Amino acid sequence: MSKYITTPIYYVNGEAHIGHAYTTFIADTFARYHRLKGEDTFFLTGTDEHGQKIEESAQKHNKPTQEFADEISATFKNLWDEFGISYDKFIRTTDEEHKRGVQKAFEVMYNKGDIYKDFYEGHYCVSCETFFPETQLVDGEFCPDCGRTTSVVKEESYFFKLSNYEEKLLQYYEEHPEFIMPKSRANEVINFVKGGLRDLSVTRTSFTWGVKMPESIHDDKHVMYVWLDALLNYVTALGYGGDEAKMNYWPADVHFVGKDILRFHAIYWPAFLMSLDLPLPKHIGAHGWWTRDGEKMSKSKGNVVHPKEVADAYGVENLRYFMLREVPFGQDGDFSQRAFIDRINSELSNDLGNLLNRIIGMSGKYSNFVIDSKDVTKYHAKELRAMDEILDSLDTYIQKLQPHRYLEELWRVFAIGNGVIQEYEPWVKMKNNQEDEALATVALVANVLARAAIMLHPVMPETTKIIADALSFEINTQSFKKLVQEKALLDTFTIKKVPPLFPRIDEPLMEEAPKAEPNPPKKEEKKVQKESTKEQDNLIEIGQFFETSLKVGTVVEAEEVPKSKKLLKLQVDLGEEKPRQVVAGIKEFYSPADLLNTQVCVVANLKPAKLMGMISEGMLLAAKDEDGLCLVRPEKPKKAGTPIG
Ligand SMILES: [Zn+2]
Repeated sequence: MSKYITTPIYYVNGEAHIGHAYTTFIADTFARYHRLKGEDTFFLTGTDEHGQKIEESAQKHNKPTQEFADEISATFKNLWDEFGISYDKFIRTTDEEHKRGVQKAFEVMYNKGDIYKDFYEGHYCVSCETFFPETQLVDGEFCPDCGRTTSVVKEESYFFKLSNYEEKLLQYYEEHPEFIMPKSRANEVINFVKGGLRDLSVTRTSFTWGVKMPESIHDDKHVMYVWLDALLNYVTALGYGGDEAKMNYWPADVHFVGKDILRFHAIYWPAFLMSLDLPLPKHIGAHGWWTRDGEKMSKSKGNVVHPKEVADAYGVENLRYFMLREVPFGQDGDFSQRAFIDRINSELSNDLGNLLNRIIGMSGKYSNFVIDSKDVTKYHAKELRAMDEILDSLDTYIQKLQPHRYLEELWRVFAIGNGVIQEYEPWVKMKNNQEDEALATVALVANVLARAAIMLHPVMPETTKIIADALSFEINTQSFKKLVQEKALLDTFTIKKVPPLFPRIDEPLMEEAPKAEPNPPKKEEKKVQKESTKEQDNLIEIGQFFETSLKVGTVVEAEEVPKSKKLLKLQVDLGEEKPRQVVAGIKEFYSPADLLNTQVCVVANLKPAKLMGMISEGMLLAAKDEDGLCLVRPEKPKKAGTPIG
């Protein structure tokens, strides 16, 4: 049986960030898992290189567009090579074979009548390279995705008849409930389709950096719209439209994607495939986003986590383990050095590293580094059964795209290994003339570690190679079959000493992210402050405090800001002639009904700010920790406008 695993192709408009690394680690782990099982596996990654944004970025850098794309694409490829990512192909959408495949697909859809020519007049966001219908714009002007100003563009365009596929898609989702994973994400897609699909503009005349039209259509003004071009990479990588020898890998088993591009993969892509009469991928696996220390990462905050920097400091395999273990697949995750170090010290060092050290120590002391498994079944049938039950369950977590559960369960195997040493105390038995029993326990633990190392191999390929080497066996499909599937014991081990795999880490190995501050810090404050008592250094005069006008306000109107995940629009009575409009980023924590007719504390003398095109004339006081945000409110009702201080 063959397997086909993909990452999205990464857009060459910036360097790889931690989210790219996460998707790539997951896909690599799955590909390695299938190969370990002996399945013929094809693992694809690559770069998405067309579109107006790339053309503009190249101009900004004073470079020919192709050269610019080459450079950025290479940074991704080099990083994955350095990280040991085991891709079978690195596709670039500027590859000739890819372009040919896209043209072929366009031709097939066109000849079928699924693509037609018309005019597009719409509100276009250059940044998102997307047209938005008027109804989706915020205040009739702003991009619902990024909040930037859109412009009205009218251009000739070819359209894909997406509307024709509404019913078929809904039927497909219904019949294939595991198409979109995790299932919790399926509803937002289904609701979007139920809301009606408009035909999709699939060409542009406003720029030239894209795949040209097929020659048979004779319309050189147009280039393909990036999503049509990009999504087709999953089949052109297998030779679609050219040498189709590898098309036997199609359909893909999993497309791993970030949740921000789920819609394109779960709606457009299956519709394109239906039009091409190709089978649909089995699963689209959408993962969440990463924050750092609970804060959204952004260049301006200076808190972006660079995967290479982390890997250099902590080791790429520790990072793989951390990211896959830390976050339930599909949910958002948080990167903090504290949590990372805790997992390294407790799970990798204590649970796994120590187990190997104890085998090395005990086998050296008791049996000159040779371990014989002859008595394991006699003394430890119960522990073997418990271990095998866990190992047998692991495959289901791969099927369900739950690498975090896979690792969680696998760690129960290490717990068995550490538990038997505590329970049977081989050192006591060695003293009491029960040598056979003592050595059987050591042999059990060596077998436990061998099997667990095989199963951990997809996540930590190099580390587990060292473990296998120390135990004198190899991790490959044969040992997987023999030790994990057939549950054979390794007859003998010749133990080699290795240095500790996971030295304890006491202090963060990278500089901490700068803490978010309401105002940009003055230069001398910028240095990283380890103690939180440093506030003494920043004492202010009472007068400085009273420069801020704080007032009690009553919320007299509250509504959601359409299309914004964060913002609520409030009218707050501050005892003035008319209520102030305050736009507050609290929608994740409060509904408009929660707020109506309640009191809040308002910073009343801030310069008005514009958010999503709306004026905000104040700021609410709130407190936020890892459990969420709450507003600061007066303990008893006070007259609107009462000063605080
Ligand atoms: Zn936008």
